[in-house]
Amino acid sequence: MSWIRLHIGLDDVDSPLGGCTTHLAVRIAYKLSQRSDVEFTDYPNLIRLNPAVPWKTRGNGAVALRILLRGEAALDDVVGLVESEVEEYIAEYANPKHQPSIVFLEGDVPEYLGAYGGKALYDFIPLDYALRIVGKLGGAVKVYAPRGKRGVIGSLAAIGNQMLSGDYTYELIAYRTREYIGKPRMVDEDSIVEMDEATRGRTILNYDYESGRPLVIPRGPDPVLYGVRGETPLDVIEASKLIRVLEPIEYMAVFRTNQHTDSHLKPVGSICDVHPYMCVRLTGVVASKPRRIQGGHLVFKLCDDCCIDVAVYEPTKHFRDVVGELEPGDRVEAMGCVRPGSRTHGATLNLEKICVKELSKKTITRNPLCPVCGRRMESAGRGKGFKCRHCGFRTTELGKETIEVPRRLGKECYQPPFHVFKHVMRPLDRMPRGKVFTPSELIQPFVWKP
Ligand code: ATP
Repeated sequence: MSWIRLHIGLDDVDSPLGGCTTHLAVRIAYKLSQRSDVEFTDYPNLIRLNPAVPWKTRGNGAVALRILLRGEAALDDVVGLVESEVEEYIAEYANPKHQPSIVFLEGDVPEYLGAYGGKALYDFIPLDYALRIVGKLGGAVKVYAPRGKRGVIGSLAAIGNQMLSGDYTYELIAYRTREYIGKPRMVDEDSIVEMDEATRGRTILNYDYESGRPLVIPRGPDPVLYGVRGETPLDVIEASKLIRVLEPIEYMAVFRTNQHTDSHLKPVGSICDVHPYMCVRLTGVVASKPRRIQGGHLVFKLCDDCCIDVAVYEPTKHFRDVVGELEPGDRVEAMGCVRPGSRTHGATLNLEKICVKELSKKTITRNPLCPVCGRRMESAGRGKGFKCRHCGFRTTELGKETIEVPRRLGKECYQPPFHVFKHVMRPLDRMPRGKVFTPSELIQPFVWKP
């Protein structure tokens, strides 16, 4: 009997009542992993898509499951199982605003689907573009979208992003049991600090020492108890064992993911190529001194042949002080996503990180020193030169002095505090890595009930 390759993409399942796409994916993955006619070829892939999409709930996450099936009967069976799991889930965690969508793709991922997936990481994808891709995939694809098709954009993009090479990371997520969702999470915070110390360099953003907050624990009423992110499956499994939990756990699962890789930042050659909802990295020259606006935010203009407003917001705290030190003429690489313009402001790049490439000279002008007594002179009136208040000396010969002021910024990169980090943002101390994934690396079990 021959094996059939199947990719299952899931998105738009979140609910304010406790549901989330990864949770549904884990329920399905657990059931599939119990079957003898199903073989997983990868960890569930958790793909964080464009974080600037207006209708995302939290981190714009979509999930792809990639499996081999033993024969046609198994295929029909699995498709039926997934659809009924979805029905059950959306009945349990209803959200009228959402359009849960499952995409089943048989066979290999064509190159054009990979390109589509890559674009969905940094750009806005109209639904008709996604549906054209579905049309092109023809008989290889089946869509299950009982409440509207918007989720197809993300489900399809999750399948397209295979992350077979390049930078990727892992996350081990522990899920709460139904009766605990919405209640305070019972995790020993000291154990998170201990885990962070024991796994430093191998795990990512466990604890924010600045605010004294654990970053592995989400805040909302979702089913995630904690999520440990790291470089390898063994790293996140080891780290998770160090966390002391005081409530029951329903499932644990290891995901392979693009989190903390900056994969959403599309390098663009010119500001002229940037449009709303796009996430970019671009280099330009600071054209105006950053100014504070209402709410404690900071805005400056960045230009090359075109210009864009760049904003840093109040919650980024000390990051605003860094940005406030910029001077016209500085050349910087700015990273972030573009918010569309409104009646009051133009399209604005919401700054996520900044690297200073060149610093302009900052100068101030001052009145000259008195050549007789050495004190600072003052103006004697328009066109009348300077006078010394201390010894009475007057002159029209001397001009103002121009003094270079030392800059407080270095030619380096700066980032906001960790508590404002989006899932996909790479902390500066995590270097991008060139990894290659092969199915033989899959450690079993990758989804289990503890
Ligand atoms: P969570 O991270 O908690 O799973 P979420 O932030 O992923 O929640 P969703 O409820 O999944 O939010 O909604 C995201 C919606 O945006 C989906 O309908 C998805 O199809 C769509 N979407 C994803 N990426 C893009 C994109 N690049 N362009 C347009 N729409 C997108």
